[in-house]
Amino acid sequence: MAAQGNGMDNNFDTIVIGAGIQGSYTAYHLARNNKTLLIDQFILPHSRGSSHGQTRIIRKSYSKPYYTEMMTECFQLWKQLEAEANVELFRQTGLLVLGKEGNPEFQAMKSTLVNNQIPMESFTSEELSRRFPAVNLPKEESAVLDKSAGILYADRALKSVQDLFRRFGGTICDGEKVVDIQPGSPVTVTTTAGIYRAKSLVITAGPWSNKLLNLVGLQLPLKTLRIVVCYWKEKVLGTYGIQKGHPCFIKISDSIEHHIYGLPSNEYPGLMKVCYHSGSDADPDERDIVLQQPSQDVNILSTFLSKEFPGVDPKPAIVEYCMYTVTPDSDFILDYHPEHSNIIIGAGFSGHGFKLAPVVGKILCELSLGKRPSYNLSPFKMHRFGLNLKSLL
Ligand SMILES: Cc1cc2nc3c(=O)[nH]c(=O)nc-3n(C[C@H](O)[C@H](O)[C@H](O)COP(=O)(O)OP(=O)(O)OC[C@H]3O[C@@H](n4cnc5c(N)ncnc54)[C@H](O)[C@@H]3O)c2cc1C
Repeated sequence: MAAQGNGMDNNFDTIVIGAGIQGSYTAYHLARNNKTLLIDQFILPHSRGSSHGQTRIIRKSYSKPYYTEMMTECFQLWKQLEAEANVELFRQTGLLVLGKEGNPEFQAMKSTLVNNQIPMESFTSEELSRRFPAVNLPKEESAVLDKSAGILYADRALKSVQDLFRRFGGTICDGEKVVDIQPGSPVTVTTTAGIYRAKSLVITAGPWSNKLLNLVGLQLPLKTLRIVVCYWKEKVLGTYGIQKGHPCFIKISDSIEHHIYGLPSNEYPGLMKVCYHSGSDADPDERDIVLQQPSQDVNILSTFLSKEFPGVDPKPAIVEYCMYTVTPDSDFILDYHPEHSNIIIGAGFSGHGFKLAPVVGKILCELSLGKRPSYNLSPFKMHRFGLNLKSLL
């Protein structure tokens, strides 16, 4: 709803465009002390971007240690959100990382766990089948269990962040597409329903980022991918169930280009969620157009599951869709607009940003208020790609 429709003042300290998890968490941090407007093109909640769905994996095991460092605070902030919202958002299940000892990424994830003294356990393939008899790891592979990991209840989390944002005095204008941005001080944002002004602007538009950034003369090297989210039926109900203590997993394979990841059966009874960590190029506004084509990703998952998780029927029982926005190095973009320091960009969360949203939101909040960021942002600066500023008309 347009703010002026309520006779409200349309001047804000900060405007955040995009009410996915990153924009909503940024707005949540901002609204504690600032007059904040959060805008989304769709009526909330919606399932067209990257933040919808019941579950996401949360873990400290990362091959890049700066994410592990951020995850320590993320776990605390998720816990704080649970307490503030009085809703269960996290379930500890542990996460198995499956791979070969010689694989550099497998080694790096293992080292991060050891170096940060994160509770963990290592298994040979035989040891793993004794502990989890329905997992059939190839003989030459091994596994580490990150015991601190688990599941975040994503839809509930997004709703909780937005509810608290409102409780702190924030304004949400949903069902309003941003169609123009005029940089300056103040920055002016025009939507399909109103005109708003603010001292600073945060753009967290997920797979629509480059469409939005086009309005401020910037294009980033982002690929938008349509992800096939598959749920697989257990042959015997509960084989991989959360109630039986089955962990999440990430498979790092030498022969499959991207990871495969899975969550125990929980959100749909008797169905395990297993996905391929990549997809086919797609415009977010055309995500559902190509559905008739057989998906290569589903075939990859099917072959993997028949060998290593033989307790599920290797044909997906439910297929849903979601979008990734991927950078060339899979690291996020958290930075100022190169020409307008009161425009802040959070983009390219590369299929692993949900768990990190509490700290991403904190950082974007700090940048928009001109504060020194709490973390070293060098891995997230856009100049690592070289700049491609479109000329501003
Ligand atoms: C299948 C799948 C599985 C995943 N699994 C995990 C996981 O296990 N763990 C993990 O940590 N992460 C995971 N992720 C990644 C994580 O979900 C994303 O990184 C995160 O949701 C990105 O959020 P976002 O706010 O950047 O984008 P979005 O949620 O897409 O939000 C962007 C918002 O901007 C709005 N917008 C865009 N353009 C405009 C405009 N012109 N005007 C107004 N509003 C606009 C959109 O409507 C949208 O609501 C997964 C993602 C997918 C798709």
